[in-house]
Amino acid sequence: MVNKQTMHTEEDIWRILENVCDPEVPVLTIQDLGIIRKIKMQDSHSIEITITPTYSGCPAMNTISTQIRMELAAHGFTHITILEELSPAWTTDWMTEKGKEKLSAFGITPPQYTTKNNPREWDAIIPCPRCYSTKTELISQFGSTACKALYKCLDCLEPFDYFKCH
Ligand SMILES: [Zn+2]
Repeated sequence: MVNKQTMHTEEDIWRILENVCDPEVPVLTIQDLGIIRKIKMQDSHSIEITITPTYSGCPAMNTISTQIRMELAAHGFTHITILEELSPAWTTDWMTEKGKEKLSAFGITPPQYTTKNNPREWDAIIPCPRCYSTKTELISQFGSTACKALYKCLDCLEPFDYFKCH
């Protein structure tokens, strides 16, 4: 009997990791966030994943690492190394367009600017994700989590989260 162990391709791994979501914004996968930097497969059991944490000290990162391990373990990997690459630091610019669309659909306004061209985010117009009104006001720079700010729409009167540029 030949115990044939299927060798995963790097493409397979990217697909497997699509199952790992941001615990704070469950509609976003870690790929939407753009935090996976490198995938290095030694053999069908050993793998090394390099990630760049989103917000330093964000408790969600531990959950994400655990989920990556669980997904890979479920696909036969027994030696899983997760490395953190802190430089260059993650920015919301790395978020994919697909990720931004998902955020909107979830009722969170995605980052409106790239970090390079907008240091004055608080003066900017942040549209309502529900009615797209641009008449909105900042209620708190910290929403349900530190990465979001809380806004209120002056047209539909609903409060909403804004995923801050970072
Ligand atoms: Zn609105």
